[in-house]
Amino acid sequence: AFITFEGGEGAGKSTQAERLADRLREAGHAVTLTREPGGSPWAERLREALLSDRGRGLDATQQAILFAAARADHVETVIAPALRAGQVVICDRFSDSTEAYQGSLGAPQRLLALLRIVAVGSLMPDLTLILDVPPDVGRARAEQRTALDAFERDEEAVQTKRRDAFLAIAAREPERCAVIDASGSPDDVAQRIDAAVAERLGV
Ligand code: C5P
Repeated sequence: AFITFEGGEGAGKSTQAERLADRLREAGHAVTLTREPGGSPWAERLREALLSDRGRGLDATQQAILFAAARADHVETVIAPALRAGQVVICDRFSDSTEAYQGSLGAPQRLLALLRIVAVGSLMPDLTLILDVPPDVGRARAEQRTALDAFERDEEAVQTKRRDAFLAIAAREPERCAVIDASGSPDDVAQRIDAAVAERLGV
């Protein structure tokens, strides 16, 4: 099974992805836990370039193309082989992030749909957990965690647009996506996630 976590800053994706990986391993599953942007050596190099150079001359379409190139490599070298080996793959962010982030910055939807087909093909997640928090809650959590990177400093209007974009994806693909209320404690959120995973995938 292929499970992805999506959502804005400070939604708790990384924490919850790790917790789910631990839980499934304890239940006896072989799990590959990975992340985007990054997840393979080339994709990590592109991540570094994208996160440090953003705001210094790449427009949203150019960003989307590079994220897609990184994703194609990550899918080919990490995700597809693990799925073929029968593992559960959990990925912290995936193609929906490109749609929500670069889409909110102005990349055309038709281009994003095309890039998704090129980079991901038929390997779409079986379940996408969209962790949803109000932008001000996410911002407060992200600020506590680390110095914010360039994307995380975006103004609230952009963050609201991204949140709406994730919710629109969930409405468009309800069979793949589950929106999880990510407010409250990590334990509360983990319980909601476990319930959704059990209901949708039976694990
Ligand atoms: O979730 P994580 O903190 O690893 O994401 C790294 C950064 O990359 C975040 O600031 C996120 O906003 C940004 N990002 C992006 N476009 C994507 C995926 C992530 O701008 N498609």
